[in-house]
Amino acid sequence: MINSLAEQAICVKCGMCCDGTIFATAKLNKGEKENLPPEIAQNYQNIDGHESFRLPCPAFKGKCTIYNKQKADICGRFRCDVLKDFSDHRISLDQAFGYVGKAMSLKSNIKTLLLDIEGIDKNTPFSGINQSIDHLRSQLDDKKRFNQNHRELLVKIHSLQTLISTKFRRKANFRSRVIKFFRIPLSEKKLFIEALLILYTSKLILSFVSLKFCSRLITKTKYPDKKWADESLIPVKTAISQANRLTFRKSSTLDQSFAAKWMLQRRKISSTLTMGVKVGTNKNLSNYSWLKVGEFEIVDKKEDCTEIYTL
Ligand code: SF4
Ligand code: SF4
Repeated sequence: MINSLAEQAICVKCGMCCDGTIFATAKLNKGEKENLPPEIAQNYQNIDGHESFRLPCPAFKGKCTIYNKQKADICGRFRCDVLKDFSDHRISLDQAFGYVGKAMSLKSNIKTLLLDIEGIDKNTPFSGINQSIDHLRSQLDDKKRFNQNHRELLVKIHSLQTLISTKFRRKANFRSRVIKFFRIPLSEKKLFIEALLILYTSKLILSFVSLKFCSRLITKTKYPDKKWADESLIPVKTAISQANRLTFRKSSTLDQSFAAKWMLQRRKISSTLTMGVKVGTNKNLSNYSWLKVGEFEIVDKKEDCTEIYTL
């Protein structure tokens, strides 16, 4: 909850949590859908049971245009680290305005540079600009097309991302992660520990042993065809994805798919692990794997992947 006039003044100058700069979506509570204002309802989405609305929020026009009306619960609750640091007296009001001012100036520089380079509409929301940034990054390897303007732009983007990740949305530190872990229900703790152990083991096995041998560890037994409700599969999907954030180096999609298949096998749920390739912009091939139970993706398939092998 934004709890002082000073905090409101900071937010009025900023808006980065509404305009798609910091987040691509905003989380909704269960059952909140029915009471959303039309501005938010038009961006409502439900992905695998996780309800949210897409950002930029249609109600954001330089500032929130429905500030005094009913909004989503998250709109009133969310406070970034700049607001928290200010209210806890870790930073002064001037410093808070300083961070917001710096972010706004970087955003404006990025927009101007992108207009020159990419020719994007100056009213494009920042989340739309992010797509242009991705396109720009894909040109990094194309040395002939990459010039001084591109370089300057990437430096500005990097500065904005660093500012956001250090001042506005710091990642949870180890201590707060441990506290959070102890707060979750016992069943989720067990599932998370299982996912972590299986993912570590899968990474080790797949690093040192051939895939052919690994596939022998996965039984070919087909368990009775059953329509699994998404609610039975989401916890496994979530546990693998959370465990993936804690592995010593980022797991490949094959490690994750293999580990998830292993977990499902322990629950007598048949799944299909698919390996595929994707052709990059420079015609280079990247390997990806994904895992499905029926149509439900436990490890998501990357777009435009061509299937080469299933297990
Ligand atoms: S990012 Fe922080 S300062 Fe900016 S509008 Fe959101 S809560 Fe306010
Ligand atoms: S309703 Fe207002 S506060 Fe909520 S996301 Fe949209 S612009 Fe931001």
